[in-house]
Amino acid sequence: MLALVKYAPGPGNMELRQLPEPEPGPGQVRLKVAYTGICGSDIHIYSGAIELNNYPLVPGHEISGIIDAIGPGVNEWKVGERVTTEHTFSTCGHCRYCRQGEYQECAVRRSLGFDTNGGFAEYVIVAADMLHRIPDKLPLEAAALSEPLAAAVHAVAKANIKWGDVVLIIGPGPMGQLVAQVAKAEGARIIVVGAPGDGERLQVASTLGADHTFHTGEEYIKEVLLDLTGGYGADVVLECSGAGGGAVLGLEVIRRQGTYIQVGLFGKPVELDYEKITYKELTIKGTFCHNWPDWEKALALMVAGKVRYQELITTCLPLVKWEEGFRLMAKRQGLKVLLMPGERRWT
Ligand SMILES: [Zn+2]
Ligand SMILES: [Zn+2]
Repeated sequence: MLALVKYAPGPGNMELRQLPEPEPGPGQVRLKVAYTGICGSDIHIYSGAIELNNYPLVPGHEISGIIDAIGPGVNEWKVGERVTTEHTFSTCGHCRYCRQGEYQECAVRRSLGFDTNGGFAEYVIVAADMLHRIPDKLPLEAAALSEPLAAAVHAVAKANIKWGDVVLIIGPGPMGQLVAQVAKAEGARIIVVGAPGDGERLQVASTLGADHTFHTGEEYIKEVLLDLTGGYGADVVLECSGAGGGAVLGLEVIRRQGTYIQVGLFGKPVELDYEKITYKELTIKGTFCHNWPDWEKALALMVAGKVRYQELITTCLPLVKWEEGFRLMAKRQGLKVLLMPGERRWT
């Protein structure tokens, strides 16, 4: 089968290769991959900024596909079913996090595209326990967005948004757009802030329901925020840009006793005015990946039309054109790029 392989650490070191078709083991199924989204982390894997736990390895963890073969002991799935798989491939099953259903924090969790071969290939082996059936109303390409959307659901849940809260989302990339829509569905008033070059992305955010959009070059963000909040500042900040400047802005414009969620990854240490947390009595939370209920909610939000994927999937390319897709994502042109390992469009 055709697969995109990262064969060594460091910049580049990625190429298309022919690999043997994998066979599902006990508790596993094989998917014929329909679509796999390119994540920001895949760009970092390509550049070498994120190291994989195994080489050579097939990256890709935003996967939708069709069950193609079933391993021993799997009774609840049939060949031909349309599914999406969680990012998690395996966990220990008995640590405190696993027992609470918070297995994204299991210390020995292994994940697709980081520890085991992922979705930039014609076939992928996944754990039967980590599959979700795609609702009939959703096309397979929408289901490929369920991984980042489940992460957005997980992030927004940490903010305990109340109806009418003013929520500031920093960074209008694919994750920021999903977070904004999920927060909107919780009844928040949404402000999205981007960098000066983010004009088109901010336009998409408006189309998808953001109440106000700004870029950081505009001086009146703070005035509008204060105006909207009776002079207090944002109730909730979800920092999705992973840029140090985004975090600085967020801590500045959040109201006293507000909730700040760090969604984006900086990839390096950043300097912040930590004392603001003390004086403003802020609640600061991290958010990582997702678990079963997040995923089911993600699919339900798309079915209900509360989260639109149509505007977010800006490019679908066959796997052989992976370099073009990676370039588009790295240059932040458009929003989400999907690769089609099967070289055909599925519905
Ligand atoms: Zn990702
Ligand atoms: Zn565990």
